[in-house]
Amino acid sequence: MNVLRAIKIIGSNQKANLFKLLNHKPLTVPSLTSMTLDTDDLQIAREWLLKKEEWYNPNIVAQFETEFARWNGSQYAFAFMSGRVALSACIYALGLEPDDEVIIPGYTCVVVANAFQFAGIKVIYTDIELETYGVDVNKLEDKITPETRAILIHHLYGLVCRDYMPLISLARKYNLKIIEDCAQATGATFRGIKVGNFGDVAFYSSEQSKVFNTIQGGVAVTNDSQIAAKLREFYEQAPYPDASWIDKQLYNIILNYYQCKHPQRWWLGDVVEILYGDKRLISTTKDEEQGIRPPNYGCKMVAPIAAIALNQLKKIDHYNEKRRQTANKWKAWCENRGYKPPVCPADSQPIYLRYPVLVEPEKKQDTSWAFNELGIKLGVWFVSHLHPSPRKVEGCPAADVAVKQCINFPTLLD
Ligand SMILES: *Cc1c(COP(=O)(O)O)cnc(C)c1O
Repeated sequence: MNVLRAIKIIGSNQKANLFKLLNHKPLTVPSLTSMTLDTDDLQIAREWLLKKEEWYNPNIVAQFETEFARWNGSQYAFAFMSGRVALSACIYALGLEPDDEVIIPGYTCVVVANAFQFAGIKVIYTDIELETYGVDVNKLEDKITPETRAILIHHLYGLVCRDYMPLISLARKYNLKIIEDCAQATGATFRGIKVGNFGDVAFYSSEQSKVFNTIQGGVAVTNDSQIAAKLREFYEQAPYPDASWIDKQLYNIILNYYQCKHPQRWWLGDVVEILYGDKRLISTTKDEEQGIRPPNYGCKMVAPIAAIALNQLKKIDHYNEKRRQTANKWKAWCENRGYKPPVCPADSQPIYLRYPVLVEPEKKQDTSWAFNELGIKLGVWFVSHLHPSPRKVEGCPAADVAVKQCINFPTLLD
């Protein structure tokens, strides 16, 4: 153990804690990551660290795929090491080819744009609306050209997008394929059916800030047997991550639990940081922010991650219900303070991964007010159009507003 490093970690964190204590501020606040890992998940991670010989056993992954498909109401599911790779599988499965055009929201994660660019596909950005941050159907038609093959629609912050059915109808009218980005909305429903089952193909994420958490992970689903056959083709040629990656990911479960969930994380977080901090995985590398394909891109899911995913799946409905309850509290806060709450479209049941609100730009730039007034840390996802990359997107004025003004509240508070 590196003593100097330990002293540095404890020194800076506990100095901050002493300051909070003296100012009667809370030592622990809700985490910006998912907070759905519990001691049972931790136990599973520890067991799998000792079962290296089973890491590439495909049966547990197949079991997770079957159970996810059943829970989601989808015919077919394929599990990968991230949502972005699941999206790459969707792109392959739709038969999109270099120089085809695809329309995607000008307010998304950079890894979404990357997945298309890695496949040589031309990305056209379209604007969002500011009620649910989904694609604005009224602005979409102008972006369609003879080269357009598909559109990507999303359900951000766990909301169901406002123009859901009109978007599907418009795509059908022009014979375009529909990819649903459900990375932030696993479990949200429309007319009692889970989002991701209305387009041609969809993907979900279990990255550590999403609805369920395996640190990194993703699933692609479809209800179309031909698309499923192509997803399977992609899946079968996808490599496995190497053992050192899997080892790190399991240690990240331990780090995440003690730093983001344990009630005494104000000091236990430092202990695990000293022990395992050098194993930390980051979700999006600097290279990815610049649009460069990382060397380990494209892997399918492995057994230990599927074991955690299976356990997380059992708890999704419980945590999503908690999120909806907290959303009521933030809705009341908005109404009291004169802010407009996000819209819950008719027949939809959002899951509120985070609770987004448009506030004054100053309040997004300096979020200390939230800690002082509410004892929470605010999320500021999308400080740029292609989060978290500074790469620019032009011609999407509503997205410009969201970039400057949309903050988000946590919906799991303990
Ligand atoms: C997180 C996220 C992704 C990518 O998922 P990963 O599992 O991190 O690859 C895609 N789209 C949206 C909207 C996301 O929030």
